[in-house]
Amino acid sequence: MARPLTSPPLALREIIILPDKRLRLVSEPVKKITADIRKLVDDMFETMYDAPGIGLAAIQVGTPKRVVTMDLAKKEGEPKNPQVFINPEILWASAETATYEEGCLSIPEYYSDVERPAQVKVRYLDLEGTTREVDANGLLATCLQHEIDHINGVLFIDHISKLKRDRVIKKFSKAAKRTVE
Ligand SMILES: [Zn+2]
Repeated sequence: MARPLTSPPLALREIIILPDKRLRLVSEPVKKITADIRKLVDDMFETMYDAPGIGLAAIQVGTPKRVVTMDLAKKEGEPKNPQVFINPEILWASAETATYEEGCLSIPEYYSDVERPAQVKVRYLDLEGTTREVDANGLLATCLQHEIDHINGVLFIDHISKLKRDRVIKKFSKAAKRTVE
């Protein structure tokens, strides 16, 4: 039989949304880069590009593993720049800070300025299991900190005022209730 004239099946995973309690889990380190981890990374890229988003932590698809995918290629048509960070950890952060307007696929359509260290040094494993280090600044530094927060159960709204945070949590909790009813 001829192969169907469709693209290969996308392995999209569902992105969990605030106030899902799993977003507060501390994810487990990856001990070995198995076929399951590679499949998780593939699915995370599919899901991230589909959303679309520039960064995704495994816990956002409900998998509490310390795995992060990212692609900071900006414009449409610009070549893709997929990056994977396994067991990422911040080794150093600058005293100097930078402020970016952040958003999150788990808190859709909500954006707020967040102040974080402007530069960070991060150690991680690549998909081959090789230990690497990156000196990040600009958007990469912000994104890495945002995603490393995720694998520690922290959300970007934890860095904004309590008043604003309570307001956004309330809004999403109400929406979740409406979905259940
Ligand atoms: Zn996020």
